[in-house]
Amino acid sequence: MALTGIQIFKLLPKTNCGECGVPTCLAFAMSLATGKAELVACPYVSEEAKAQLIEAAAPPIRAVTIGVGDRAFKVGGETVMFRHEKRFENSPGFAIIISDTMDEAEVDARLERFKLQYERVGLTLRPELVALKGDSGDASRFQALVFKVKQNCDGGLILMSDNPDILAVGLKASSDRKPLLYAATKENLAAVAELAKSSSCPVAVKASGLEELSQLTTELSEAGVKDIVIDSGSRTVRQAFEDQIIIRSAALNKKFRPLGFPTICFPAEMTDDPMKEAVIAAMFVAKYGGIIVLSDFRGESLFPLLVERMNIYTDPQRPLATTEGIYEIGGPDENSPVLISSNFSLTYFIVSGEIESSKVPSWLLIKDTEGLSVMTAWAAGKFVADAIAPFVKKCGIGDKIKHRKLIIPGYVAAESGGLEEELSGWEILVGPREGAHIPAYLKTWQP
Ligand code: SF4
Repeated sequence: MALTGIQIFKLLPKTNCGECGVPTCLAFAMSLATGKAELVACPYVSEEAKAQLIEAAAPPIRAVTIGVGDRAFKVGGETVMFRHEKRFENSPGFAIIISDTMDEAEVDARLERFKLQYERVGLTLRPELVALKGDSGDASRFQALVFKVKQNCDGGLILMSDNPDILAVGLKASSDRKPLLYAATKENLAAVAELAKSSSCPVAVKASGLEELSQLTTELSEAGVKDIVIDSGSRTVRQAFEDQIIIRSAALNKKFRPLGFPTICFPAEMTDDPMKEAVIAAMFVAKYGGIIVLSDFRGESLFPLLVERMNIYTDPQRPLATTEGIYEIGGPDENSPVLISSNFSLTYFIVSGEIESSKVPSWLLIKDTEGLSVMTAWAAGKFVADAIAPFVKKCGIGDKIKHRKLIIPGYVAAESGGLEEELSGWEILVGPREGAHIPAYLKTWQP
């Protein structure tokens, strides 16, 4: 449970030496409580206090990392039930299944589809994980698949088999990639725990229901395995959904450590219909899947899932924002049109995309509105004549163009009069309300 600043203060040395970068232990305690400082900054905190503080600071759902290097994937670490309470921390990963019973061509095609990626609001959206299934029961076949995937794919790996011997062979081929071992069950727990411990790899636990799941995670923890991912075993949509809610609530609201781990869920095993599978996966993105295993990746369902995930896992207190400034689109010159918009990232990418598709080289002024969209910024007084005019004067656009015409978004047409007063010598043109109408509007441009 998180400690307050005062509770933390009681555990600090109270010498006010200032070596942590703030003048007093109390100030340091307050910074720790709000997550603005790290405990390591104080060299004098006792080991006993350190242990208490680390325990108290640990998130109720453990963060687990799968893989290494640039593509290491972190899941868990969540602290809230609802995004608006603070934010969700680590977005769920999408995994594609590749089985060792598939032929070479199918394996190659799936590895190719794993590379699907999309650009959206300046971010690259892509899946993270490949789930390798040892369906054949043949250890050498599984090992060959693991080698092949490892060589041709830089994503995180999930090794899937109930047989610890098969897992051991797959692990031998990929331990340097820190795969997730799926799964420890009540039948094989000791053997899989040993594999996880000896390789320092995370392990998934699969049970038949939440009670058994709690027992198994407790046994694993007692055996010294800390990085655990949990699967309640439910394969009907309703039960799996209920389990996700109960697991999250037990970990956060009841501080129930045996369920304080990220989850893995299998839409792939809940339906044979690809579209239904995508809808089920979408549900787990919202509630509260940690790893979401799909039977295959298809662009038409993967892209919306990635966008949904991006939207849910952005910080609601920090809108995605673009840097204030002048953006050149299509090589504009001194006669090119000048448009202005807010720095909400989505607005920027829509407007700049439409200008680009118009093929009319243009200047786009992006005003800092603290990441608010045009209408919201206008309502908040951040995209009104008094705020826009000083920016236009100081940004330097006047030195780049011969004309003095500024195109403002149609939604803030009410500001045109005020702007003409504030920007003497400028003509204010009211552009379209919708980004989609920008290309047609720019075709009529006359300097
Ligand atoms: Fe207090 Fe430690 Fe900071 Fe010194 S370094 S002021 S002892 S918290």
